[in-house]
Amino acid sequence: MSEVKLEDIVSLCKRRGFIYPGSDIYGGEAGLYDFGPYGVELLNNLKRSWWRANVYDKDNYVGLDSAMFKHPKVWEASGHVGGFNDPLAECKNCHHRIRVDKELGAISVTADEKMSEEEINRLFDENRAHIKCPVCGHKDFTDVKGFNLLVKSNLGDFTGTGERPVYLPGEACQGIYLNFKNVVDTTPSKIPFGIAQIGKAFRNEISPRNFLFRTREFEQADTQYFVKPHENKEAYDRIKQDRWNWYLSIGIQEKNLRWHQHENLVFYASDAWDIEYDYPTLGFDELEGIHDRTDYDLSQHMKFSGVDLQYQDPATNEKYIPWILETSVGLGRMFLAVISDAYYVENIGEGQTRTVLKLKPELAPVKVAVSPLLKNKPELVAKAREVYDMLKKEFGAVMWDDNGNIGKRYRRQDEIGTPYCVVIDFDSLEGETKDTVTVRNRDTTEQVRMPVAELTDYIAK
Ligand code: ATP
Repeated sequence: MSEVKLEDIVSLCKRRGFIYPGSDIYGGEAGLYDFGPYGVELLNNLKRSWWRANVYDKDNYVGLDSAMFKHPKVWEASGHVGGFNDPLAECKNCHHRIRVDKELGAISVTADEKMSEEEINRLFDENRAHIKCPVCGHKDFTDVKGFNLLVKSNLGDFTGTGERPVYLPGEACQGIYLNFKNVVDTTPSKIPFGIAQIGKAFRNEISPRNFLFRTREFEQADTQYFVKPHENKEAYDRIKQDRWNWYLSIGIQEKNLRWHQHENLVFYASDAWDIEYDYPTLGFDELEGIHDRTDYDLSQHMKFSGVDLQYQDPATNEKYIPWILETSVGLGRMFLAVISDAYYVENIGEGQTRTVLKLKPELAPVKVAVSPLLKNKPELVAKAREVYDMLKKEFGAVMWDDNGNIGKRYRRQDEIGTPYCVVIDFDSLEGETKDTVTVRNRDTTEQVRMPVAELTDYIAK
């Protein structure tokens, strides 16, 4: 397990404007977080990288952005109304609710939300002696019941009867299935092809916890790849490898990733693997699911909507319901993995340490910070402003930083993960060194002096 603690990551995220607890001034709200100024930059950079890899770098994938609210029947067809349940038990002493499969997992008893109520009650009964209420410590719980995770809204319900509940999305991917026919009819896409989407999901998680790992609102980045029935195997292996390689390409260390194959498959799935990440404090757990879903999704929507969702091969006129290979990752878990992986505490001599986020420069929320050596010297500030304006035009994500002494600024930028700090000092103003600046490298902490005219190229490289 990683030596970094989850609490260190949470603290850095708050301290440096990456993640704030949701509704912070009201004392927070369980399972909700806000992305701060540097968090949203990192999040957007991750989304861009994911989109590039899954849409632009492929020649048979297209993108989509479907509405969050959907016809209520969508969630009946998908199985979420009937079966999107987590096993819940309530402490008889303090009424705290636990998610039983996760509590069993914590004492190394294999259980998951797909088990029948009977099966999980049996496991729970066998292990009750070892499960304590995390709030009051009592061991007396109710029997296990399935708790539906869908979040209802009253959209369009002007009578207040709640007869036609419109749900928030329990998963983002349903929009892709609903638009399969639209995409086939309006784009050159021919099977095999994929649709990619980043969208919000909401789940009434029984015990949201572990920071961004389990929240009640989150974003998912999904791809659904449509293939001819039984022509799934080769594509599935390739997709699995692609997703693994993408994590390496964004700088995740391979030692912190591993594969986990599901033993307990849902009845329609042909295969299911997770990419797991070694999260600080939590250890290895799910980052992304890669599932071979056969024709279940389109068959269900065909049945419930009455619309023919079969694909007709333009070359052979053969008609069939395509099989689907899905990849789905929560952006919050991706964010947590990337920050944790880049987090280092280094000795810098004299008993001092620095915390640094060694993010890949393309992911870094701030590409370069610009500082006048002293903020009360107008001539330094004016020159630094010139450099700042020039770099901001080029890179956008540039930060003006004149707060505290230079050492403090470097510490701050290291924690934000800024690859370069540019300092304008008195030598920048006159003599042989006029129009030169110092550039400090985040990872090596080395400083070089260079002409302002060469800065943009140097940083871009
Ligand atoms: P878990 O078993 O951890 O509850 P899951 O198997 O239900 O997750 P999926 O429904 O397959 O998850 O969702 C796909 C991805 O969405 C997951 O791999 C994960 O990255 C992310 N995800 C799911 N639930 C949450 C959540 N409550 N908070 C943050 N991310 C989530």
